[in-house]
This record gives sequence, structure tokens and C-alpha cells, in this order.
Amino acid sequence: MLEKIEGIVIKSQDYGETHKIVTIFSKKVGKLSALARGAKKTKSRMAAVTQPFIHGEFFIYLGKGLSTIQQGEVINSNRAIREDIMKTAFTAFVVELTDKLLEAEEPDYYIYEQLAKTIAWIVENDDADIPIMMYELKLYKKGGFAPTVDSCVNCGRKEDLVSFSIAEGGLLCNRCASIDQHAIALPKSVAKLLRIFLEVGLEQVGTITIKEQNKQILRKLLDAYYDQYGGYFLKSKKFLRQIDQLK
Ligand SMILES: [Zn+2]
Repeated sequence: MLEKIEGIVIKSQDYGETHKIVTIFSKKVGKLSALARGAKKTKSRMAAVTQPFIHGEFFIYLGKGLSTIQQGEVINSNRAIREDIMKTAFTAFVVELTDKLLEAEEPDYYIYEQLAKTIAWIVENDDADIPIMMYELKLYKKGGFAPTVDSCVNCGRKEDLVSFSIAEGGLLCNRCASIDQHAIALPKSVAKLLRIFLEVGLEQVGTITIKEQNKQILRKLLDAYYDQYGGYFLKSKKFLRQIDQLK
């Protein structure tokens, strides 16, 4: 069955001498992998449309075995990403996480939209830390391991949330903070941000201003949380950390 499928290329791997296996996150069918014949020949049209981060429209023969891309048109090449190492590192991270945490062929329009918006943000802005964290938290939820950020993970109280416990998997209130001596203390405003990050779409958030110091606390917190619950090793994360150390 030949289908017209709009989507974003999230992975592209060599296959044999001249072909590629391309993973696309699509609106219609969710994540799918398909063979792109001749895509390794740099001058082919297929090569252009199957590069990572391309937003395109693909005509894909969905078979019982491996699906095949017959043809594709670039909707947006997102070229600015490929021309900037930081943007490349950011986008490589969000698409790798998407690939790891989503099941194949399970459409999720909301996550698709959030990914498209996060990529558009990275194209237009140098600082993308907050949109990336927002997207990550939504993927954690999709993966079934989101932290508890709307109330105390221990007692359920919604007030006075003062720290985040990796071990308990969420925020702790001032009465419960002592149950985890490694809990990360958070200013109240930052604890509230976690909930916004998880529940609010990027389109509803203008510019969140947050102190650099607090942003770094949140970044470390999410990294530690993912290491504990996420499970999959991320090549792109290692790359991001290496770049960070150079700064
Ligand atoms: Zn509590």
C-alpha cells in the first residue's frame, strides 16, 4: 500500500553500498523505518530528502516486511541546524530521545507537534535549553516514567514543594524533604516550572526567563533523573556533555 506520509527524519543509517534505512516520525503512523534506495549517492534526490532533521513528505510503500520510500519532497530542510554544531547537538539529542522512547507505528499527534515546534525553536534561537527540557519531560511521560511534579511524591500535598528526589521520583514538600538526604533543594518558583514544563505545550509559553543558575540545576536534575529511569544510553547526550565541557 502506497501512502503519502508527512514526517521528520529522526535517524538515517547506511544500508549496504548505496542504500539507507531511514526512521521517520510521522503524523499519520507514528515512528516508522523504511528503506531509501540509492540514498547514499550524494547527488541523488533521495539523499537530500533522507538527511537527519528533514521535515518532508514521503511516498512510502508500507509492506509486511521492510517498508520502502518511493519518493520524497522536502518541506523544510532545517539547514540552519546542520550549519551550527550546537544546534546539531541539540537536535540530535531530541530526535535520538524520540527514537528511543517511542514505540513503532503508534501515532501521537501531540508529541509530533511538540517535536516540530522544538526543532523550529532550535532553528531560530541559540538558547534552547528550556524548550528541550519541556520536550524531554513530555517524552518521559510518554515513556511512562515521568516524575511527580504536581504534588509531593511522598504525601500528595500540593503546597510547599521544596526539593526534588531522584530516588523517590519527584518533588517533596517541606514536611517530607528529610526522607531523602540527597534530594535537590529547589526555589519554589523552579519547582513550579517543572510542572509547567511537563504539562504545557511549547506554543503556550512565550519566553520563560529563568536564572542561569536555576537552569543549570534543572538540567542536572533531568540528567540524573534520566540516568536513573530512562534506561537507554544516548550517544547524542555524550556529545552534548563533551561540548559543554569545552565551553
Ligand atoms: Zn510531602
